[in-house]
Amino acid sequence: MKFSEVVALLEEINKTNSSLEKTRILSHFLKKCNKEDIYWVSHLVRGKIFSDINDKQLGVANNLMIKAISLTTGVSEKKIKDYWRITGDLGDAAEKAVKQKTQHTLYAQNLTLSRIVENLNLISTLEGAGTVSKKIALINELLTNATPIEAKYVVRMILGKLRLGVGNGVLRDSISKAFNIPKEVVERAYDMMGDFGEVARISLLKGEKGLKNISLRVGTPIQSMLYIKVNSIKEAFKVVGKPAIIEYKFDGLRTQIHYDKKKNILKIFTRRLEDVTKQFPDIAEYMKKNLKCESCILDSETVGLTRDKKTFIPFQKLSRRIKRKYHIEKMVKEMPVKTFVFDCLYINGESLMDKPLEKRIKFLSKIIKPNQDLRNCPRIITSDEKKAEDFFNKALSEKQEGVMIKSLKARYQPGKRVGYGVKLKPGLESFDLVIVGAEWGQGKRNKFLSSYLLACKHPKKEEFLTIGKLSSGPTEEQYEEITRLLKPLILKTKGREVIVKPQVIVEVNYQEIQESPKYSSGFALRFPTLKQVRYEKSLNEVDDLNKVKFNYESQFRGDYERKFKKNT
Ligand code: ATP
Repeated sequence: MKFSEVVALLEEINKTNSSLEKTRILSHFLKKCNKEDIYWVSHLVRGKIFSDINDKQLGVANNLMIKAISLTTGVSEKKIKDYWRITGDLGDAAEKAVKQKTQHTLYAQNLTLSRIVENLNLISTLEGAGTVSKKIALINELLTNATPIEAKYVVRMILGKLRLGVGNGVLRDSISKAFNIPKEVVERAYDMMGDFGEVARISLLKGEKGLKNISLRVGTPIQSMLYIKVNSIKEAFKVVGKPAIIEYKFDGLRTQIHYDKKKNILKIFTRRLEDVTKQFPDIAEYMKKNLKCESCILDSETVGLTRDKKTFIPFQKLSRRIKRKYHIEKMVKEMPVKTFVFDCLYINGESLMDKPLEKRIKFLSKIIKPNQDLRNCPRIITSDEKKAEDFFNKALSEKQEGVMIKSLKARYQPGKRVGYGVKLKPGLESFDLVIVGAEWGQGKRNKFLSSYLLACKHPKKEEFLTIGKLSSGPTEEQYEEITRLLKPLILKTKGREVIVKPQVIVEVNYQEIQESPKYSSGFALRFPTLKQVRYEKSLNEVDDLNKVKFNYESQFRGDYERKFKKNT
């Protein structure tokens, strides 16, 4: 496929804010694609190049891109920076620079989508000495053959700044519309595979039947089942029914374990479907040693421990291990972990997803050899509110976050926050929000971006709505870390204020929610403070306006949480 065709699509999508219209345009385009192009187009429109389950990264920063544009066009780096400053977009700057060059020469050959993909794949594999110049050469090769408008999109794609407003919802609906497949079937397929490119390709080649045939495979992560929040044991029983399974809610990392003894597969995925097997060789080792089955897929929570393995540490600390690339063995010693398994989705070649939870957990005691590193999650099964309350208090007295209360009959629902299971924790519930703006600090903080503008999700559209500014809570280390994360995401600068691409998700505590015309959500958080950066969450897990409204209203209900707070 010529890249100019893809550019025409991106331009058209860019012109409309309506999700319905985006769906119409995209579904029409998907029908025209062949089995290779549909895979890449499906990723591209979401502003990504590789699938969610692929940990490939391009690692191309703005400065490297400026060098590449300058080399291709002969326009000085200073001039490119000037263009960039005016438009706030390096893609626009590239378009302008290539236009200048093409007044003298004509681009050599037609750029194709597959050529772009080939070069970007190569970039993602580069490591070690000479990486920078090799990356520049590969980008240069693309830009040399690009028309000005193609250059704009090549640059935006590589920098991850396409900003088309196409998220999972629009893509799901577009595939559904293009191939006449019910939305739920497309969504289930995505939940099972975590890869919209593959889902689109199967839809094209095999239609609804093909998607329905997708089943669990050891080594391919599926979306984790999620839980809604309740405010009391009574409410929990109301949602999940009696009797119910009640388990400790540990403050750790969600770990999906894939194991196949014969094929020598042991993989660990987070709930963002990131493969973290390399970062956790200790989990891999104790799993291999202590699982008594041929193959399985397990859902579990992995908790961090102090060096002496005697005390749990908060997830915030453990999260440092998730991003680690080097000195992993050192981290294993400094921050050992322990895994509590709470679900079994697959065993010895058979999927258990449609079996009730009470059956699935029976397998756990059969296949787990409990030891100091690996355990079946502590749980009780009861209909008795007093017993459930005692279990909750026991969990809290052992410094756990609270409890999960789950329906005995529940099947495993990937990617859904359905009422099959609920969570109960004390205190006003924190929010997971995305940072959309910030300010350069003053005085000793002048190197840091601070005062983070927070946003929740629009309940229907793929948009973010502001809800407050966070100026307290981060430690010096956290300011540094968040600044490092935000800097490459800066879209616009005005004085000390910056607007950033929504990507960095933070968990925020607050004292109260107030109505407020100041922010686009219509609400403001009073005294928001940073709890932690949520590296493991993706944009579609940012809390939405409905949750904000629910929590706002619960302030007036004098509910369980408040009573609990007063009593402690
Ligand atoms: P929270 O911030 O409360 O952890 P969350 O937004 O991360 O919530 P939820 O779906 O609301 O995610 O809460 C469930 C999370 O709790 C799971 O993703 C999992 O990581 C963790 N967890 C801890 N113990 C259990 C358990 N026994 N069963 C299921 N999940 C558990």
